Amino acid sequence: MKKNKIKNTSIILFFIFFIIFILSIYLKIVINEKNKIEKLLNQIKISEIKNNNSLNENFYEDNKLLIQDLNNKFNNIINQLNNLEEILKQEFNKIIYLRLLLIIFIIIFNIFLIYNTYQNKKLKKYKLNIYKKIKETNEFKKEFENGLKNKEFKLYVQPRYDTQTEKIIAGEILVRWNKNNKIIYPNEFIKKLEQNNLIGKLDLYLLNETCKKLEEWGNKNKIKISINQSQKNILNKDYINEIKKIINKYNFNKELLEIELTEDIFIENKEKVKLLEKELHALNIKIAIDDFGTGYSSYNLLDEIEIDVLKLDKKLFDNLENKKTKIIISAIIQMTKELKIKSVAEGIENKSQVEFLKKIGCNEIQGYYYSRPKEIDVFEKEIR
Ligand code: C2E
Ligand code: CA
Ligand code: CA
Repeated sequence: MKKNKIKNTSIILFFIFFIIFILSIYLKIVINEKNKIEKLLNQIKISEIKNNNSLNENFYEDNKLLIQDLNNKFNNIINQLNNLEEILKQEFNKIIYLRLLLIIFIIIFNIFLIYNTYQNKKLKKYKLNIYKKIKETNEFKKEFENGLKNKEFKLYVQPRYDTQTEKIIAGEILVRWNKNNKIIYPNEFIKKLEQNNLIGKLDLYLLNETCKKLEEWGNKNKIKISINQSQKNILNKDYINEIKKIINKYNFNKELLEIELTEDIFIENKEKVKLLEKELHALNIKIAIDDFGTGYSSYNLLDEIEIDVLKLDKKLFDNLENKKTKIIISAIIQMTKELKIKSVAEGIENKSQVEFLKKIGCNEIQGYYYSRPKEIDVFEKEIR
């Protein structure tokens, strides 16, 4: 509607401009004609009539009054024509200015029109993007809910090995999304779930499935299982109550269950984390700090909060040729021993890393060197 209005206005303005243009040409022609007449009149000078004509003196004398009258009339006409020329010139100038103004106006108007069209397009694109995002988010939420209902989220386990005996003593639960027979890895959906406040639902579902398995494995089972919990919910009281409910629903040795929390959770919420620690320890559940060494590595939290396990991040071991890195890792392991915290090295891919970890006395190793994450049923067969 708005666009059409602008278009119509622009056409009307164009026509006004066109009419003024025609009018000005017409005026120019009039002025030219007037100039021609004036020139002609100037040629017929009365004095010349008087001197050059072939009529005799008597004729002039006889018609003196008439000739004078005629002369006066000619002069009058010339004066009037002069006046008319002046008026026409002024009008003509006015029209020129008007035309100039109109051209400027049309240019500005067109610039405005182009700018407006560009802005409209941008706004339309922006609205379309938002609409697309909302649609995508809604679709994602629906897919997720369906996925949960259809049990598309699968529990994989990556074994953790005792450094000295090289035997499996624990495992970390890692989720995979089996969507239309295609395996999707957590890096592709965990962040999205966090952004849409859905991660809690998944983490609680996985916790429930894990506890169910631990109950199934029975009292003879000695393998510890750790599970990731997104820091988005874990400090929320209602969420902790949900965890409690799930854990109490199943019968298993609670000391075998570890909850992995990334170290950044401890930075801003020390008091809340202290409460969480008390709640989890009251249930006999263990607490692990995940990805240690990638963030702030706030060592001071170790003396304020009772931590059971410290999982050293893969990045720490990527640069083991560096002497200083070795010294730092040795110092961390020494510290965990004195604080009676279990140490787990993550992302271990080669023998020299394993040998170094054996030498410094790290408790457990997790990494592709020993095993990639595997389906929980496969893991179950191995530990039996
Ligand atoms: P994470 O907790 O640090 O898990 C370890 C990740 O490192 C896993 O990736 C594992 O496959 C990978 N990894 C293990 N050993 C090696 C190795 O030797 N070399 C290399 N290059 N990688 C190794 P994954 O399974 O893709 O999980 C990625 C992250 O997704 C996890 O990092 C965790 O933060 C998150 N995640 C996975 N499952 C869950 C879950 O159930 N809930 C929540 N909240 N987060 C999860
Ligand atoms: Ca983890
Ligand atoms: Ca980790």
